Amino acid sequence: MSDIIYMDNAATTKVAPEVLTAMLPYFSEDFGNPNSIYSHGAKALRAVTAARKQIAATLNVAAEEIYFTAGGTESDNWAIKGVCEAYAGKGRHIITSKIEHHAILYTCEYMEQNGYDVTYLGVDENGIICLDELKRSIRPDTILISIGFANNEIGTIQPIGEIGLIARERGIIFHTDAVQAYGHIAIDAKACHLDMMSASAHKLNGPKGVGFLYVRSSVKLRPFIHGGAQERGRRAGTGNVPAIVGFGAAAVRAYTDLEEKNAKTTKLRDYLIEQVLREIPDARLNGDRERRLPGNTNFSIEYIEGESLLIMLDMKGIAASSGSACTSASLDPSHVLLAIGLPHEIAHGSLRLTLNEENTYAEVDTVVLALKEAVTRLRDMSPLYLDAKKRER
Ligand SMILES: *Cc1c(COP(=O)(O)O)cnc(C)c1O
Repeated sequence: MSDIIYMDNAATTKVAPEVLTAMLPYFSEDFGNPNSIYSHGAKALRAVTAARKQIAATLNVAAEEIYFTAGGTESDNWAIKGVCEAYAGKGRHIITSKIEHHAILYTCEYMEQNGYDVTYLGVDENGIICLDELKRSIRPDTILISIGFANNEIGTIQPIGEIGLIARERGIIFHTDAVQAYGHIAIDAKACHLDMMSASAHKLNGPKGVGFLYVRSSVKLRPFIHGGAQERGRRAGTGNVPAIVGFGAAAVRAYTDLEEKNAKTTKLRDYLIEQVLREIPDARLNGDRERRLPGNTNFSIEYIEGESLLIMLDMKGIAASSGSACTSASLDPSHVLLAIGLPHEIAHGSLRLTLNEENTYAEVDTVVLALKEAVTRLRDMSPLYLDAKKRER
């Protein structure tokens, strides 16, 4: 692991040493069930309560409004299905966007099969939704607006506060999938008028398989997992205590010196963007230049097939992605890149490099050099490219 260059931090991150240290006692020493009466269990309960408070403090919300889940996907499923069931009497219309994560998109499709109507908002060439289109899409039977805080492929940050205000003024529940944003940018749930928000620990140097759903106290939400009375009777099942403790520690760590870390990562990101655009002909940056996550870069490289590029980078010990880890098993072009208006053949040749504050300038230089070599080799083998260049001459 030591000599790989890891630039896929949007897919997952490593557990930070202090997070692991915080978790360890809860595996075999303080292993009690947090819901039992005896003092051994009480210790686990105290740890879970502390983690809930740590997370609530980062969002400016009450600890009772944080519900632990088994990850971002569960939180997204619960938010949509739980609101749809609870508010079916009021209406059956949902508004989301075309560039959501599949945990949102496929859940919305499922709701469509169950008699709900879904409006999928388009986005501009940088991936930002249009607030006027949102307002025009609202109907008397709209019960939920779900728009991701920051996109997992192109890093674009939505005008969440404005969307929240539009929803709040009309009495519509507003959910945001903040899995990419939480722990990476400051979020004030009250200032953004959030009713619900999904997050996942493994995107901020916490363990995999634990997430939370923030649910504002006034929101009605049906339980999604039925069973015991855990999580205020709304999410049954014995909590994953070590993971929850790790999530709390990861949240505190992420929001400590956030601005300094982000300033550093943003500078490195901008250097990477500059180098790629200078060194690789026919490459473009996808996503908004300014309103993007500090660590995100996403490029389209013409006449290149993304998967081949990833394999060549992998052979040089570089971990990158062609978009999202969830779609890399399929060869379909990214729905996000198609939604920002890229043609199929260009959407196929995309490369996502996502950084954190631990990446270095030397790593960026190594990656850009490797990328340049790989692109040259692939293009030399591409009849399409050779043809296009011949026509240019
Ligand atoms: C990673 C991710 C998810 C899924 O979270 P898991 O904890 O892996 O289930 C959902 N939404 C976005 C935007 C993500 O980046």
